[in-house]
Amino acid sequence: MTAGTPSDPLRVAIFGSGPAGFYAAEELLKQTGIHVAVDLFDRLPTPFGLVRGGVAPDHQNIKVVIKVYERCAARPRFRFLGNVSFGEQITLAETLSHYHQALFCTGAPSDRRMGIPGEDLPGSHPATTFVGWYNAHPDFIHERFDLSAERVAVVGNGNVAMDVARILAAPTEELAKTDIADYALQALEQSRVKEIFLLGRRGPAQAAFTNPEIRELCELPGVDLVVQPAELELDPASQAFLASSKDPVHRRNVEILRAQVPKGLGSQSRKIRARFCVSPVRIDGPDKVRSLRLEKNRLVDDGRGGLKAAGTGVFEDIAVDLVFRSIGYKGIGLKDVPFDERSGVIPNADGRMLDEPGGAVAPRLYVAGWIKRGPSGVIGTNKPDAIATAAKMLEDAPSVATGPDFDPAPAAVDGLLKRKGAVPVSYADWKRLDQVEIARGKEKNKPREKIATVAEMLAVIRGAG
Ligand code: NAP
Repeated sequence: MTAGTPSDPLRVAIFGSGPAGFYAAEELLKQTGIHVAVDLFDRLPTPFGLVRGGVAPDHQNIKVVIKVYERCAARPRFRFLGNVSFGEQITLAETLSHYHQALFCTGAPSDRRMGIPGEDLPGSHPATTFVGWYNAHPDFIHERFDLSAERVAVVGNGNVAMDVARILAAPTEELAKTDIADYALQALEQSRVKEIFLLGRRGPAQAAFTNPEIRELCELPGVDLVVQPAELELDPASQAFLASSKDPVHRRNVEILRAQVPKGLGSQSRKIRARFCVSPVRIDGPDKVRSLRLEKNRLVDDGRGGLKAAGTGVFEDIAVDLVFRSIGYKGIGLKDVPFDERSGVIPNADGRMLDEPGGAVAPRLYVAGWIKRGPSGVIGTNKPDAIATAAKMLEDAPSVATGPDFDPAPAAVDGLLKRKGAVPVSYADWKRLDQVEIARGKEKNKPREKIATVAEMLAVIRGAG
């Protein structure tokens, strides 16, 4: 008999409780023609992925999306199993012996490399670590950033670069009202950062940031966003691109930047210097980051209807003590799960996992979110993405074939996890932690005081914190 009835639901394991995981869970659980039960796993005791650990603390409004996830978590056939690591406490083979289908929504937790000399000098950091650090992500709380530096470079022109530059430059009185990690706030209060170089390898018309994010930098109290007028001059191809583009975001980005020209250097003590058409080619030490060599770029046809940066052989050195490389996130491979190292995603055909790029479908295995398509788009982009994968899962549900040892009973999974030494955190456990964080935040007039170590999270959940 095919699973999917009230007494024998289709049992689905989802790994990764970020936006893609929750959107997929909701789509599966809301079906009326088939009964699906979802176990949503996360290696951390806390749910919500980048909404908790990535979204900047001064962007609390973005976090209201959690309300949608809470409604999903309240559904009867939903279970959260936090603090369980895939590959160790539950392997792929074990997953397939207890679930009809498994969906991977593990995101893109690593960073892309620039591949230039000096990239690993002390003082050169991937933006991902800084973001995790100020957001009290347990993986990054021990990171240290030398904020006695006066001059800092942020490489990249995406919204993560905007977040990093803003958190470095923002008045700490404002950050104190957010859920930024306490230790990060203290470090930022002592910060001596005066100049932040925001480095785009292409021009202002190609920048990946969006209008509210660049506008926010222009409007930060105590900060001047300084541009070089010559770098805002557009070449004919960029002008043609803006003229033909249906999406006004790039045109508006250019307008916002041009509006900064009359302000010149400004009079504020902190400066964000937005530079365009420059690529870092070397970070110089020798002992730590001391300066950055930039090569001036021009824009050339990329052969795909767009423009790419090409070096001109003209170089410039800027003295900086700290570099944040914000050139994009990258997926990480999971034990026994196919992985495309080149693109940093799990190979898939519209969400159905493949055994290798361009290979055969791996039955009963699926992907959604950044580990499916790469690190692009905003939180909401993951909704249609997850729904599309869920549609494939539902389409395949009638033909799921399991072996003789298959045991879909939730108690069987619980027994397995216990045997493997896992101590799963339920959604009710998380809510207890959530309430404690909110109560601790209230005392300091902030939305929450995040608990930053897994040990303390578990102690609080068990009533010992
Ligand atoms: P992103 O938007 O892809 O931006 C990456 C940036 O790095 C681009 O400017 C890219 O330039 C540049 N870059 C790539 N390789 C480079 C190299 N070798 N040297 C110099 N520059 C290089 O990535 P992201 O900023 O990490 O953001 C990831 C996703 O999360 C995005 O979709 C973003 O919009 C989203 N996000 C949204 C928010 C928000 O809504 N507020 C906040 C954070 C993140 P090219 O364009 O030339 O490739």
